[in-house]
Amino acid sequence: MTLDQQIAKRRTFGIISHPDAGKTTLTEKLLLFGGAIQKAGAVKSSKIKDHARSDWMEIEKQRGISVATSVMGFNYKNIKINLLDTPGHQDFAEDTYRTLTAVDSVIMVIDCVKGVEIQTEKLMEVCRMRNTPVICFINKLDREGRDPFELLDEVEEKLSIKVRPLSWPINMGKNFKGVYNLYEKSLHLFTGSKQTVQEGLEIKDINDTELDRLVGDTNAKQLRADVELIEGVYPDFDVNEYLEGKVAPVFFGSAVNNFGVKELLDSFIRLAPPPIPRATTLRIVKPDENKFTGFIFKIHANMDPKHRNRIAFLRVCSGKFERGANYTHVRQEKGIRFSNATAFMAQDRETVDEAWPGDIVGLFDTGNLKIGDTLTEGEKLMYTGIPSFSPEIFKEVINMDAMKTKQLEKGLLQLMEEGVAQLFSYELGNRKVVGVVGQLQFEVIQFRLKNEYGATVQFQSQNLYKACWISSKDPKKLQEFIDSKQRHMARDKDDKLVFMAESRAWLQMVQDNFPDISFHFTSEFK
Ligand code: GDP
Repeated sequence: MTLDQQIAKRRTFGIISHPDAGKTTLTEKLLLFGGAIQKAGAVKSSKIKDHARSDWMEIEKQRGISVATSVMGFNYKNIKINLLDTPGHQDFAEDTYRTLTAVDSVIMVIDCVKGVEIQTEKLMEVCRMRNTPVICFINKLDREGRDPFELLDEVEEKLSIKVRPLSWPINMGKNFKGVYNLYEKSLHLFTGSKQTVQEGLEIKDINDTELDRLVGDTNAKQLRADVELIEGVYPDFDVNEYLEGKVAPVFFGSAVNNFGVKELLDSFIRLAPPPIPRATTLRIVKPDENKFTGFIFKIHANMDPKHRNRIAFLRVCSGKFERGANYTHVRQEKGIRFSNATAFMAQDRETVDEAWPGDIVGLFDTGNLKIGDTLTEGEKLMYTGIPSFSPEIFKEVINMDAMKTKQLEKGLLQLMEEGVAQLFSYELGNRKVVGVVGQLQFEVIQFRLKNEYGATVQFQSQNLYKACWISSKDPKKLQEFIDSKQRHMARDKDDKLVFMAESRAWLQMVQDNFPDISFHFTSEFK
């Protein structure tokens, strides 16, 4: 197969949702269609439940599971689908943000009872930064949910994206009759029995009395009125607008009943983009370029604390990746070669000799790679669009065992390279502050430093609001600012200068006093 053919048959995506909306259930049904698993219940949830706050083994177990489910590859109708898992727990949202840099599109699951929830809003913001195409699946139609028009309005309003329903529910809850596919003009009846795939019944003319017979007079009447309203309110679906991330096609169904899932999958392979061109520091790289390029978006370390082994997850962006070939590690400006590379097919891992754009490869690494690193065949470009986001909570690291200072430093460095949290080292003194999105991350760091490195730490709360990456058109003004705020300047993992703002009000004041300085809440900015 040629490079072009390999690219055309690949779809790399992630599922995003607020916890409990049905991401794990939907994942499992998709894998069943792909024949990647044989029975329901095979996909372990990568959720960390709240009770795990006090249960470290649970977290370690989850970490194990999440290696297995990090990437689930499967074939469906001759399309190679790579589904990248995203942790559901909000404390690990940064992991999810990074994973979203490696996908070409997403499916967003929304619970029809709860509507748009906070985590979905945050994840959608990340998708919008990169104009990622989004397909929306409104789930749990077997429950008494909210009015579908109201739900769509809420999606448009809270997620700042236009929507276009491509299927429509007929009633819901106990009276849920099925969905009408507005695109194919076919009816899928809901029988309620699990695992059955109801083929579409063709109803080309919605005024056909057959519809009344199948779903009842009242439901048929309602559907006709709804469809008329939809055609009146929403412009025709434009696939290019979807690909630009401007409009989200919407499907309705019930994941646990495997209802509407096949339709979703069929539409997904038809609409979702194959591997897309990507921005680098030098130029846009197209997937069909002959030379291999790719970047690391995730690192899993110390699964076995006795061996300092790490798996780095590489997203192939262009050309063909070959195991054993000599590549350039652009940041370190040196050659690197991987004799051990794995592909991810559903829950099995197998050695691969080659991989294509859109594929994710697991590379065994002894400490050379960190998140955001680019590999090429020699060109000195680096992939962009893998920013750090300002953390929400900050704490100073206090070393409780002076004998283990070296281990602590090594452990901290490695955990930060793995992306467990962000470390900010103050310019003055030796203060190191860890920034996280959620409290649970501190507990994970503390536990892993002890368990894997033998270091004992405590954390001291800091009165900090945000870490701001700074820039200015005027280098002199920038230097003046840095000099005057020296006590509040720190360095991030890439040695970039960061202004540590203590409160929102104070940041506002500083911004007013230094109008020539720009303050950014992400490490990449234009
Ligand atoms: P996740 O946190 O988004 O991964 O959600 P899960 O897939 O674990 O689902 C959360 C709960 O919702 C589970 O108890 C599922 O069985 C249930 N669930 C998933 N899909 C449906 C559905 O279509 N209808 C109903 N009634 N429950 C569902």
